[in-house]
Amino acid sequence: MTQTPRIETRAFDTEVHQLLKLMINALYSNREIFLRELISNASDASDKLRFEALTDDSLKGLDQDLAIDIDFDAEAGILTVRDRGIGMNRSEVIENLGTIARSGTRRFLESLSGDQRQDARLIGQFGVGFYAAFIVAEEVTVETRRANESADQGVRWSSKGEGEYQIESIDRAEQGTTVTLRLREDHRDLLSPWQLKRIVHHYSNHIAFPIRLRQPAEEDAEPAEPKFERVNDSQALWTRPKSEIKEEEYQEFYTGLTGDPDTPLSWAHHHVEGSQRYSLLLFLPSSAPFDLLINRDEREGVKLYIQRVFIMDAAEQVLPRYLRFMRGVIDSADLPLNISREILQDSPLVKKIRATVVKRSLDLIEKLAEQGGEPWAKFLEDFGSILKEGVIEGFEQRERIAGLLRFASTENDKATEVSLDDYIGRMKEDQEHIWYLTAESLQVARNSPHLEAFRKHGVEVLLLTDRIDEWLVGHLREYKSKSLKSVARGKLELGEQAEPAESAKKLAGRIKKALGERVGNVQPGTRLTESPACVVADEHELSPLMARMMRQAGQEVPEIKPNLEINPEHALLGLMDQLEDGNRFDDLASLLLDQALLAEGGELADPAAYVRRVNALLVDSLGAAPAQSSENSESGPERAAS
Ligand code: ADP
Ligand code: MG
Repeated sequence: MTQTPRIETRAFDTEVHQLLKLMINALYSNREIFLRELISNASDASDKLRFEALTDDSLKGLDQDLAIDIDFDAEAGILTVRDRGIGMNRSEVIENLGTIARSGTRRFLESLSGDQRQDARLIGQFGVGFYAAFIVAEEVTVETRRANESADQGVRWSSKGEGEYQIESIDRAEQGTTVTLRLREDHRDLLSPWQLKRIVHHYSNHIAFPIRLRQPAEEDAEPAEPKFERVNDSQALWTRPKSEIKEEEYQEFYTGLTGDPDTPLSWAHHHVEGSQRYSLLLFLPSSAPFDLLINRDEREGVKLYIQRVFIMDAAEQVLPRYLRFMRGVIDSADLPLNISREILQDSPLVKKIRATVVKRSLDLIEKLAEQGGEPWAKFLEDFGSILKEGVIEGFEQRERIAGLLRFASTENDKATEVSLDDYIGRMKEDQEHIWYLTAESLQVARNSPHLEAFRKHGVEVLLLTDRIDEWLVGHLREYKSKSLKSVARGKLELGEQAEPAESAKKLAGRIKKALGERVGNVQPGTRLTESPACVVADEHELSPLMARMMRQAGQEVPEIKPNLEINPEHALLGLMDQLEDGNRFDDLASLLLDQALLAEGGELADPAAYVRRVNALLVDSLGAAPAQSSENSESGPERAAS
């Protein structure tokens, strides 16, 4: 009979192997983060124990006096980080330390750019995790026991970070985990009290558990119990009175919370008293984490504590999606400690907290807007589009959010300068609507034939070129009781309205007949001063841009027939009016439609036919012109055509 060997050697997942190799090279200059990662794991494990002890009687009492202890032996090159947290059993060790369980780590790997500065940012945001220990260590040993199991259920895991690890069963009297690093020679300078204290202070000062550092033994003292002294702040920052907290402390706290080394744009700290008591500390980051728009775990961003016990990431419950860039901490004195995610969802207390979070966040953003300048521009650039979702989703705050949005307009070149209030302030006396044009780019917008009449009458038009703007105007029908209206929809009333001449109506009728089913209606109008024709959408139908975006997103969109507005004053229309019905008239009508579609940034159903028609016309006009003044008239068109 063979026995299972006490020590077992196993291979890492290939991904771990890959990560280890990369880690050591890419992070060499950020070596200090290894300690942040180990402390963060110890803190997570202590949080978990405290949380499970709320509902699991077998853990009662084990969650007292939790602390994270750092010990070192400079001569031997050894550093240990010990917690009394939840610990791991054998299969958890294999799962957590032998594979890359988190998809976040994989994305991190894929996004390393080789650029030190940028990668340092990423490292901060991701948390590279346990394997960061191998940046500085030639060997890592983990000894652990799950808090609710017996002393013979301990596990030792060790590895040199080279493709395999050993795992064995051990006896371990203590619950929790001890991580021991044997540092490489060139990193042993880290093993001094002041270095370690400095690193803890820098990265982990606001960890909610005491982080204690082993104190050097006093000379001549008996080799007694080692002494540990707390090196991080002893009171959670958010519980302290605002007046006593320095700016740097907020910044440090923010970095500890988010991993973002940059200064946040602003923050708000409130202690709410009354029927419900809670503390609220909210940060507005200075830039978007690179995965903000995709794939983010929506629960992250705001941590919920109850009486200083970390309960869960609760962004989903307290932040609407359009504020998902906000970061912070909420600490409630009144929620029950054993609250579940489901109960949290329906709790009226949480609803109230959420309303306050929304209000305070918008206060922060409004203040930033008032101050203007670089920070506000940065905010708009990174979060402006996300904020727009608030108009689409948020009913109560719609007008308030709309007031914070910025657009380009015919009066202002910058894409993010004009607010709806600015616009209203510049409206003409008899102007009823806030006019806008949606387009794929500023360039297309600026050159749109739809703006011609507005230029003539000196009426400002907002130019909306963000992808989300089409949805935005679908939901923002009015602002401060002024209705928003597209310059490209329905009937346009600018200046005096004269009934179009009979001849113009007749010409429009002929064009409609020539184009048949390709258009909805064809009408003479007042939109244009320079262009011969433009496409107009019905008041309530999908706009062509919206239809295009939906198609690109793979959605089924019913065929929309464009309406054509013609400018009877244009020379081309004058010439067409002279033509008899027939091929030439039909060709010109088609060109009119195709050009109007192109000017919108639209696509033609049959681009080749368009090109053929244009070429035929070019040949006609270029060929015919010399023909009139030249002797050998017949050869003209042929030469041009060949
Ligand atoms: P993360 O902490 O983001 O999950 P890590 O690579 O830091 O990723 O850690 C991987 C996993 O290993 C953790 O999720 C946890 O389950 C386990 N682990 C690491 N350190 C400890 C510890 N000190 N106590 C208990 N479990 C731990
Ligand atoms: Mg971790």
